[in-house]
Parts: sequence; C-alpha cells; structure tokens
Amino acid sequence: MDCLFCAIANGEIPSKKVYEDDTILAFHDIDPQAPVHVLIIPKQHIRSAFEITPENSAVVAHIFEKIPSIAKSLGVTEEGFRVVNNCGDAAGQSVKHLHFHLMAGRQFGWPAG
Ligand code: AMP
Ligand code: ZN
Repeated sequence: MDCLFCAIANGEIPSKKVYEDDTILAFHDIDPQAPVHVLIIPKQHIRSAFEITPENSAVVAHIFEKIPSIAKSLGVTEEGFRVVNNCGDAAGQSVKHLHFHLMAGRQFGWPAG
C-alpha cells in the first residue's frame, strides 16, 4: 500500500516529531496553516474518520487522551487550540490516512471556511 502517513509512521519518510508511542505519532505539518500546526495520526492505517469502528476506535480515544499533554508540550494550552479532522474529498482530505490537525497560535474563525 502506498500511503504517505504509513511511511512517516514507520520512519521511511522523515518528520519533525512532537510525540510518539507504540500506537500514535504527532509531527509538525509540512505546510502549516497556523503558527503551531501538528498532525496526530494512528500508526495503524485507518483511511478516514468514516472507517472508525468499535474494533479500531481505541486508538482514536488514545489520540484524544494525549491531546492535552501534546498541547502542553507545544505551550498552547492557555490561549486555546483547534482540532480538525477532514473526512473525504468535500472536506479537503488530501491524505487518506486518518489524522487530526492540532492548530494554534492565531485566532480561528467559525464556521470554518
Ligand atoms: P488533509 O488535507 O486534512 O488531508 O491534511 C493533510 C496534511 O498533511 C496537510 O496539512 C499537508 O500539509 C500535510 N502533509 C503532507 N505531506 C506531509 C509531510 N511529508 N509531512 C508533514 N505533513 C505533510
Ligand atoms: Zn496509511
């Protein structure tokens, strides 16, 4: 399977790591849309949020359990931050491996454009 984020997860493609454990990885986005822009991925290949199931959802819970400490390590807890998932083409999902954008360091509008 040809998947960019699987290649990042297994170290074939380098990334600027922020956090890593056995099941998830967080790294800086290569094209940041905010002063702080980190991607958090499961190491396991899950194509999108549409493919989250009872069998694989523990890793998604684990990502959200780790978001506070990842945000703390980035120094963005006081000001707040945004967590975004793009699912499918209409939402602009360009990499078909589940990921959550953690963005901070500027004011974000709502609804998102
Ligand atoms: P999405 O559009 O939601 O699928 O987000 C994919 C994100 O991956 C974009 O914000 C890209 O800038 C980012 N990206 C693409 N290639 C890399 C890479 N090699 N390292 C880090 N981030 C990447
Ligand atoms: Zn993958």
